[in-house]
Amino acid sequence: MGISLSIEDPVDVELGYTMRDLPPRAGHTFPGRETPLIDREPDGSARPHTPGTPTFMRAGGRNLLGSEPELLRRCQLSSTSSLESPLSPSQSKSPWSRFDPYDSIEDQDKEYVGFATLPNQVHRKSVKKGFAFTLMVAGESGLGKSTLINSLFLTDLYKDRKMLNAEERITQTVEMTKHTIGIEEKGVKLKLTIVDTPGFGDAVNNTESWRSVVDYIDQQFEQYFRDESGLNRKNIQDNRVHCCLYFISPYGHGLRPVDVEFMKALHEKVNIVPVLAKADCLTPRELTRKKIKIREEIETFGIKIYQFPECDSDEDEEFRLQEQELKDSIPFAVVGSNILVESKGRRFRGRMYPWGVVEVENPAHSDFLKLRNMLVRTHMQDLKDVTRETHYENYRAQCIQDMTRMVVRERKRSLCSQLRESTSDLPLVPVDSETERLIWEKDEEVRKFNKHGKS
Ligand code: GDP
Repeated sequence: MGISLSIEDPVDVELGYTMRDLPPRAGHTFPGRETPLIDREPDGSARPHTPGTPTFMRAGGRNLLGSEPELLRRCQLSSTSSLESPLSPSQSKSPWSRFDPYDSIEDQDKEYVGFATLPNQVHRKSVKKGFAFTLMVAGESGLGKSTLINSLFLTDLYKDRKMLNAEERITQTVEMTKHTIGIEEKGVKLKLTIVDTPGFGDAVNNTESWRSVVDYIDQQFEQYFRDESGLNRKNIQDNRVHCCLYFISPYGHGLRPVDVEFMKALHEKVNIVPVLAKADCLTPRELTRKKIKIREEIETFGIKIYQFPECDSDEDEEFRLQEQELKDSIPFAVVGSNILVESKGRRFRGRMYPWGVVEVENPAHSDFLKLRNMLVRTHMQDLKDVTRETHYENYRAQCIQDMTRMVVRERKRSLCSQLRESTSDLPLVPVDSETERLIWEKDEEVRKFNKHGKS
């Protein structure tokens, strides 16, 4: 299978810069965040990046490292009182000590070993290393996959795309394409890989169109398994697919057979997140009904889509509500656009129609923001964890089982041929009790080996 790398050199896209073109509307904040994406100082000026800029955001706007005014307060406090607290292990001059959990006034008179700084060390290491995420998009062509990806990541990944005509598409097989971009936001680097499946669902007979996608996912697992079992395990490239956005047509009556087939073929291998494409084609009533129908069908057909993790018992009410809202939004009804529309003095990504304008980022118009927040802000790490702990683990266990079976079969075969050789040395006489004993002994050896090998 040919994988074409359309973008050879990763392109740096400064998300913060692009976001400046798209300020959130007055009174419209991103769920889980009350401030625009760019970092601003209290006086309104853009704050230069510091290596320790908090990035661990969770839904509910909570920051694992504390709110910014709180951090500023801590910095000021630590600079004025550092000499009075010789016992605090947080006296380093490192820029990271700004987030030192010991740098608070109430901690200054206590004795500490210092392991409360461990999260900071992990934070620093991961920021240095950077992050990688692989997102697959699948669904019939024309459903707005490329438009949505460009809108989600504020980029233009598909400028070199070649569109096939109807005749070419009749015989077209599903082909996997991969685009990689480097995105940097507030000093945090993300290597984002988008895997597309052009041709999916476009042929006259689509019964097996999921096969190339399954093969692709398995190949990435296989490559990772090989690398992980090899000698140089330090710089393994992780190309495993962490999430698959599956686009469902807004025009059908719920799921089509090809949707069911595809999701069932993939649900044990990848985190499937269903999206209802081109949501602006549906009235609010139609949209609600379609969502309910699709959720029911997903249940009826036993399709295991990505499950949002259950909230911990110590989570606050706001977080719980946001998680529930996410669950109820499935399939995410999305609208994409590559065009900046200007209306009433504001510029935003939208779709302009004779009867009005659809705003991509308006929660009243689509679930676009919910999807982006889920993918990037709140669940990216969980999607990676589930890929590693569940999907890849299943693949790995299956591989090890197959390999063990192969080794046992091979040993058995060689023992049999040894037996054949040893018995051929004996004079050709009718099988007597001694030969029978010998054969029995060899068979017993094989049996024992099998039993041992399996246990
Ligand atoms: P792909 O083949 O699935 O990648 O689809 P494209 O992104 O190329 O979009 C196909 C057509 O649908 C283009 O004309 C887009 O402008 C249009 N389109 C994309 N997203 C939306 C949407 O959310 N709503 C509507 N109404 N049209 C869309």
